[in-house]
Amino acid sequence: MFEVLYMDVSHLLDLSGKTAIVTGGAVGIGLGIAARLAEAGANVVVASRSPEEDKSAAAELTGRGWKAIAMPTDVSDEESVKSMVAGTVKAFGGIDILVNNAGIYPEIPLRSMTLQDFQRVIDVNLNGVFLCTKYTSEEMIRKGKGGKIINITSIDALHPSMVGLAHYDASKHGVWGFTKNIALELAPHRIYVNAIAPGGIVTPGVQKLQQSTMPASVDIKAVIAAFMKKIPMGKFGEPDDIGKVALFLASDMSSYMTGSQIVVDGGALLS
Ligand code: NAP
Repeated sequence: MFEVLYMDVSHLLDLSGKTAIVTGGAVGIGLGIAARLAEAGANVVVASRSPEEDKSAAAELTGRGWKAIAMPTDVSDEESVKSMVAGTVKAFGGIDILVNNAGIYPEIPLRSMTLQDFQRVIDVNLNGVFLCTKYTSEEMIRKGKGGKIINITSIDALHPSMVGLAHYDASKHGVWGFTKNIALELAPHRIYVNAIAPGGIVTPGVQKLQQSTMPASVDIKAVIAAFMKKIPMGKFGEPDDIGKVALFLASDMSSYMTGSQIVVDGGALLS
């Protein structure tokens, strides 16, 4: 028989001494993830564009006795991503966990979608994941201690949830393909790459979507109500529903996983 190293659950979930970057970690799903990683002992870097929101999220986490700092970053800007990585290394000595969470989903029907609209979503949701993964993984490889990368995709990486998200669905399918290829390339460095595909989660972004003004032909409230009807659990999820799964993927609980995508959608894809 092989000798198996058995770790108890508290050690499996312990992220003490590890450093995690959460892009878009100031609100919504990102903040839900940042909170669980910080609770597990990680130094958390909150990296969205808004310095005020980053500071306030970091203050909320440190107020609970956890470790967090604000690092305002635009994931679609290469220089900004490079300084996020350099700033994190300066603050904590390295990076062990990267959560590519920052993302936008402006609902625009194809007939009114401009090339600029399409490019902006690709820039943030896909190019941003590329840039953060590239520069963070280079740092992880340099350090030689492995790492975990978690990409927040969407059920839209597998199946469209509603009309008006063609650019978004293209970006999220792209992130899922990127996840699998990078998992292959980085496994020899013990850097493990997985994705979480959330369904409908109550966040500031979704609230904004609900209030958005659409062309008269699109009734956004009806579109969202129709989506809700497709969820077997009968409710939207909370950011912590994703935070708990992110903790699983960031920790030794997922020690034999790479290149996988976990769907967290209350069963929506079943309908
Ligand atoms: P949200 O409430 O709109 O929050 C998004 C966060 O990302 C904000 O902190 C935002 O802050 C930041 N962000 C946006 N553009 C950025 C950029 N260029 N660089 C850095 N940060 C940026 O969104 P959410 O609903 O929590 O969604 C988070 C992720 O989950 C996204 O990738 C989304 O596609 C995915 N997702 C969400 C749902 C859902 O139902 N909520 C479902 C499936 C997938 P700033 O604007 O200040 O930068």
